[in-house]
Amino acid sequence: MSPPQWVKDLKPAPPQGSDLIQAEREKSKLSVDKLSNFLFTKQVIERQERILKILQSEKVFDKSQNYFDGRIDKFKTALARAKRLRQLQVKHNWSRDEYMCANDLVSEPGPYGLHASMYLTTLRDQGTPEQHKLFLQPAENYRAIGCYAQTELGHGSNVRGLETTATWNPEDKTFILHSPHLTASKWWIGSLGRTANHAVVMAQLVIDGKTYGPHPFVCQIRDMKTHEPLEGVHVGDIGPKFGYNSMDNGFLLLNKVKIPHINMLAKFSSVDPESNKYVKPSSPSLVYGTLTWVRSTIVLQSGGVLARGVTIAVRYASVRRQFQDRDAPSDADGENQVLNYTMVQFRLLPLLAATFALHFTGKAMMGLYEENQKKMINSDAGKVADTNRGAGPEEIHSGSDLLADLHATSCGLKALSSTTAAEGLEVCRRACGGHGYSSFGGIGAWYADYLPTCSWEGDNFMLSQQVARYLLKSARAVLKGNAPNNDTTKIFTNFLQKQDMGAAHDVLGSDADLVAAFAWRTSFLTFEALKHRDVEKNSWNSLLVDFWRLSTAHSQYLVVKNFYDALQSDSLQYELDSTTIDVLHKLFRLYALNTLEKEASEFYSSSAVTVRQIQLARTKSVMKLLEEIRPHALRLVDAWNFPDWQLDSSLGRKDGKVYEDMFHRASELNPLNGLTIDPYPDSDVLVKKDESERFKSKL
Ligand SMILES: Cc1cc2nc3c(=O)[nH]c(=O)nc-3n(C[C@H](O)[C@H](O)[C@H](O)COP(=O)(O)OP(=O)(O)OC[C@H]3O[C@@H](n4cnc5c(N)ncnc54)[C@H](O)[C@@H]3O)c2cc1C
Repeated sequence: MSPPQWVKDLKPAPPQGSDLIQAEREKSKLSVDKLSNFLFTKQVIERQERILKILQSEKVFDKSQNYFDGRIDKFKTALARAKRLRQLQVKHNWSRDEYMCANDLVSEPGPYGLHASMYLTTLRDQGTPEQHKLFLQPAENYRAIGCYAQTELGHGSNVRGLETTATWNPEDKTFILHSPHLTASKWWIGSLGRTANHAVVMAQLVIDGKTYGPHPFVCQIRDMKTHEPLEGVHVGDIGPKFGYNSMDNGFLLLNKVKIPHINMLAKFSSVDPESNKYVKPSSPSLVYGTLTWVRSTIVLQSGGVLARGVTIAVRYASVRRQFQDRDAPSDADGENQVLNYTMVQFRLLPLLAATFALHFTGKAMMGLYEENQKKMINSDAGKVADTNRGAGPEEIHSGSDLLADLHATSCGLKALSSTTAAEGLEVCRRACGGHGYSSFGGIGAWYADYLPTCSWEGDNFMLSQQVARYLLKSARAVLKGNAPNNDTTKIFTNFLQKQDMGAAHDVLGSDADLVAAFAWRTSFLTFEALKHRDVEKNSWNSLLVDFWRLSTAHSQYLVVKNFYDALQSDSLQYELDSTTIDVLHKLFRLYALNTLEKEASEFYSSSAVTVRQIQLARTKSVMKLLEEIRPHALRLVDAWNFPDWQLDSSLGRKDGKVYEDMFHRASELNPLNGLTIDPYPDSDVLVKKDESERFKSKL
């Protein structure tokens, strides 16, 4: 609906946001393009531009009603978009990376989400060539749409506690899938509610009355033509959620549903139809690999996830002005940009530093994963089965050191990076004041959609137990006198040697000293926890908080180390100018020192630093770094290179036209303003005139 001309003629009071943001950019000489290319590569940036143009030219991807749609419209729109994305993938012959880039730009969970990720991946990784032909090929062509049904109403982290059964039937060589209790209902399953016609169902394999643990079975759940549920299948959407409402997370109950022998995914383990015996997994390493890959991907994405919030908040804080500086001369005019307030800087700039720390950590994590995959293919190192999303028996880590290290690293970093991103987004939202609470701000929905990452692929608190278990095991090996064979055992050995010499750690002089302080703290906490467990014989449960602290400390060490290593690379010197390199070093110190100060008690009690050093870390170093980084903040977020279309945020507009955009969305796009209601309590009439469709038909 168009507002009257006198409204159209109004402008924000000067200075204009566009001028403020322009002036802000001029405060720094940091090269945005070079930094973007260094972070993502030129090729990836050009790819994004190309795909963005395609998406923007399609009506179905118009985002102007995104924040107004209710659940059903949201889902329908997401379905239409998911279908179109798939059509475009075929039309333009998009690779997986190109398809993922399009998904990122659209930025909403879609009903094919679990089909494209977990369903295809599980079939690929756990199916035999025969099963690939039967299930994977139609799935890859989207003739069959699937999901991954593991979690149940009664069990999530404890996968071994799943109740759904798959009972082998030797007479006709079939399995009977069954949900014996209400709590056996599959729950939370993405794409299952309304979209999927197939599911990989994780069920307890039962042969001749004996249970062999959870295994994957392909089960058709809906008719391929009518899309109605099949006989014995009760399936549906689980209802509205905190976020993620464009996705149909579903429930599934199975009543003695018969599936053929071929439907048990049999790459690793199977039932021999002749002997009716269970065939044990020969090498579960690749199953393990998939889980590690999923967690590594979460680590890789976390920097960008947080950077969206930081971009919006920093841009808004450059345009938003409140009060005059208390110490400004009495004749000074104009208000102060909120980014000038140290309290705003203290909330936002360490998060800006964290985006880069996580970015480099994600790249290092992926590198480690790929290196290990290569080694695993060449050796039979993979003896670690991870059928468990959290706590589990000690023998989980009976595999090679290589694999155990990778596993612990991916668990710890997944937990730390997703927690940092999720909590950081909320800090960014609040830093935008009241407008941060508006959907138009662009952080709220993004935050709500991201939150489940802290729970899935291993609840973050549960994962900390796996990290602690690995660290204790490594510490035991070092105490036994085993030679160090990876970074973890090296820092433990170094710690023991220095401690024997009675040397507390000397720190903070250089960047390398900072990394060493983090290594010292994680080593100290590990040997403390080991003493509690092995010497004092404390129960596992009584140590869970210590384990969580230990896992966090170790992961923070890894993040600091990865950031440090990235800044030592030759390509940095080659690709970036001295201003940008200098700012990156400052961001490193800000991330490390700010973390050190937040976790001060552990750094102090482990003798990694002195009390005086902790005091100086904040009062001098951190505050000085905030001042030095502040002029570059806007250009640093620009380097993350988010198109406005992707951010879909009034507050985060690159051109600074915050107020114009807020007003436009509220007055011209908001369908609620199309309702003329009857305000009187005695009248039964609710709506006198409904013109809400006119707001939508403008599209
Ligand atoms: C949006 C969304 C989408 C999802 N999509 C899918 C999907 O497609 N397919 C699928 O299979 N699943 C899916 N899930 C489920 C998800 O994987 C589980 O929610 C997750 O594994 C956690 O399990 P849970 O919910 O049962 O938590 P629980 O295991 O019940 O945990 C509850 C609390 O208890 C604590 N706790 C539990 N056990 C211990 C212990 N031993 N020691 C200490 N603390 C403990 C946990 O830390 C947590 O705080 C999805 C979930 C969400 C929110």
